[in-house]
Amino acid sequence: MEENLVSYLLHLRCRQCGKTYPTDPIAACEECWAPLEAVYDYARIGSDIRRSDLESREPNMWRYRELLPIEGDPWVGKHTGFTPLFLAPRLAKALGVRELYIKNDAVNHPTLSFKDRVVSVALSKAHEFGFDTVGCSSTGNLGNAVAAQAAEGGFKAFIFIPSDIEPEKIVGTQIFGATLVKITGNYDHVNRLCAEIAQKYPWGMVNVNLRSYYSEGSKTFGYEVAEQLGWRLPQNLVCPMAGGSLITKIAKAFGELEKLGWAAPAATPAKFFGAQATGCSPITSAVKRGTPEIEPQKPNTIARSLAIGNPADGFFAVKTILASGGAGEDVSDAEIVEGIKLLAETEGVFAETAGGVTVAVARKLIQQGKINPNESTVLAITGCGLKTVAAVNGRFEENGAIRPRLKEFEEKFLGLTPVRE
Ligand SMILES: *Cc1c(COP(=O)(O)O)cnc(C)c1O
Ligand SMILES: [Zn+2]
Repeated sequence: MEENLVSYLLHLRCRQCGKTYPTDPIAACEECWAPLEAVYDYARIGSDIRRSDLESREPNMWRYRELLPIEGDPWVGKHTGFTPLFLAPRLAKALGVRELYIKNDAVNHPTLSFKDRVVSVALSKAHEFGFDTVGCSSTGNLGNAVAAQAAEGGFKAFIFIPSDIEPEKIVGTQIFGATLVKITGNYDHVNRLCAEIAQKYPWGMVNVNLRSYYSEGSKTFGYEVAEQLGWRLPQNLVCPMAGGSLITKIAKAFGELEKLGWAAPAATPAKFFGAQATGCSPITSAVKRGTPEIEPQKPNTIARSLAIGNPADGFFAVKTILASGGAGEDVSDAEIVEGIKLLAETEGVFAETAGGVTVAVARKLIQQGKINPNESTVLAITGCGLKTVAAVNGRFEENGAIRPRLKEFEEKFLGLTPVRE
């Protein structure tokens, strides 16, 4: 990559009890089963690196490599990240807010979702650890990202999914030559099997024994938001939640940037707003109850990418939201479809169902007065609409084909009455 290949990763630390672990492929704390968190030497990062050093690097997620848990160059995903962040004035007007931004990971490289970020880190780590086989349990997007980057990195890959997810996400895994294992049951069943497999086989399971590295990739979403806002943090951020990892890692990213003095602490600290579908809302329900204790649910929603009934990071996602002064909200399948259409029709962005959740939840929170319309707000758009076409298919006026005649066009589409000759 370039000049500086030092790793600043110190160790892993249990998010619950604080016990530290070496930087090995470990699934969870052996004492309390809580997730492990990567810990860095921020003092050394601060003295070795200046913000301006990062700005001169290639526009991808690795421009923040000192804050990522890899030892050398990335093995895969070298072009992932640095997706567009832009003002969304027409959507802002529709929602009744002043300053609204879209961060658009629907165009992330290579598989059109934010999962490309986490997988770039996880499989680079898998290479460091010497795994030749990788895998994951997935609601679709993670499988696509692991399959693609396993192809790029020369790994064998097993992708475990609920058998009834979107056909686009099934083909989007198979095309890369990965072994697709369809399971009868929901994601939580799939995940349990994966945990068993990870215990028995010496494989790099992205969201099991590589989880503490994988999840760090999500921080780059947050770094980019800050950098693209001119090293400012937004006042509000609306984020879709499945396992609940992304939202906590964006919060970690913002905290790191403040600690390093790379983003000025805002007058009002960033508030985090969690978005889920009503048919699978264990995290937002806990937020509404005001407690981080998650009550697992049986998912039933068109937002398949968010359909995790027993979210691994749910506890921490609730704490992040409540501590920031944010809120959680959920929306029905009909509202999700409206959200997808509203974003597409106002800003020209076709998001998947998770994006519909984000937009519809933002609308609800603005109406409720929980998001201040005079503050800056970023919407996290995390996946591409071409992967969930059935959610909106058949919801448009169908015009039937016409013959290639000007008159027919004018009559049918411009309402002109035919002139008799
Ligand atoms: C996985 C996923 C999420 C949620 O990520 P978590 O870190 O599991 O909360 C959001 N949007 C899309 C499109 C996803 O695929
Ligand atoms: Zn612990």
